Amino acid sequence: MTFEEKKEAYARLLVKAGVHVRQGQRVAITCPVEAYEFSRLVTKYAYEEGALEVVTEFLDDVTMRMKLDYAPQSLFETFPAWNALRLNGYAKEDTAFIHLVGNDPEALKGADMKKFSAYIRSMHEALQEYYKMQSTMGFKWNVSAVPTRAWAGKVFPNENPDVAMTRLWNSIFATVRIGDGDPFPKWMAHADDLAMRSKRLTEWQFDSLHYTNSLGTDFTVGLVKNHRWEGGADIDKTDGERFFANMPTEEVFTMPHRLRADGVLKSSLPLAYQGNLIEDFTLTFRDGAVVDFDARKGKEALQAILDTDEGSRHLGECALVPYPSPVAAEGVLFLETLFDENAACHFALGRCFETNMSGGAEMSDEELEALGGNHSANHVDFMVGTEDMKIVGTLQNGMKITVFENGTWAF
Ligand code: ZN
Repeated sequence: MTFEEKKEAYARLLVKAGVHVRQGQRVAITCPVEAYEFSRLVTKYAYEEGALEVVTEFLDDVTMRMKLDYAPQSLFETFPAWNALRLNGYAKEDTAFIHLVGNDPEALKGADMKKFSAYIRSMHEALQEYYKMQSTMGFKWNVSAVPTRAWAGKVFPNENPDVAMTRLWNSIFATVRIGDGDPFPKWMAHADDLAMRSKRLTEWQFDSLHYTNSLGTDFTVGLVKNHRWEGGADIDKTDGERFFANMPTEEVFTMPHRLRADGVLKSSLPLAYQGNLIEDFTLTFRDGAVVDFDARKGKEALQAILDTDEGSRHLGECALVPYPSPVAAEGVLFLETLFDENAACHFALGRCFETNMSGGAEMSDEELEALGGNHSANHVDFMVGTEDMKIVGTLQNGMKITVFENGTWAF
């Protein structure tokens, strides 16, 4: 495949596998403004698959930064009602959402994170319907990436801008299985493998998992009762069809109990959070909450995450990724969670996925929380997996089973 053919194959993959566009369905794309050519390609294939209408919202890191620098705090405290109506309305119409990300990892470096936290909080409040439907797979959605110059320049700082762009495109292609042949059957086989892992883990119903490695992680996380491990493809509740919420995706993940995490977790990769890099950090947990933390770099950004709301100090996701995954095999720090979280085992601070508990999607927030589910405006993944990671699960009856040995599946 030529470089241009790979771009076409990727655009077609997002439409066909990513959100599985249906005849007569509306497709909403968000895309960095400088990647407009790629969004046109996605638009074309979406129409070819029968989309009713494709609407694109172009986003720009630079103007967002200006807003944070110049606009008053009060602006960020309220999300416009008309915008909430638009997005909640799309969600209720069963629109397929394609979110192309390509942010400058340092776009918000030094920005007022109080404003940003307020923005995340007010948006989450106003878009409750949208987020509820998203997390319970009430519509099809896909997050995938497109290179931008600012991003490529941070990933490959020693290359000239054109070479950096080409290298980032090629790394993205490799992680989403674009190469020789049709990527579609490869994705279906990958989804089947992750579904098999999820099924076995769900059958075990571990009470807790104990993580250790040479970085100094010594950590036990309790899982909620009736948890479900998920991974690979997602199923749209409305039409029962497969889609991929993330591309790439290498993880299987479940719901930790919000009050059952104890010990020390050491980060294994830097965390790129809203333009800030948080590096070499340690989180100490007691009874599910972060009670102490430190970071060699970006401690303030880590503090901002933890202080967003009460739920930001508790865990909402526990994910297993074997080492080395196709993402880790690229040997590139993407500075973008979509990729870096698929490089290694990780957890997320903040809200849980309701579908990670049997019947969770039908529960009220209060019911879910009473059973150990976590709520927050945040959901921030951070990586802890290493090539020497060991994870031992304890069953409800006290029996132990090794889940991970030397960074990869032990079953
Ligand atoms: Zn994850």
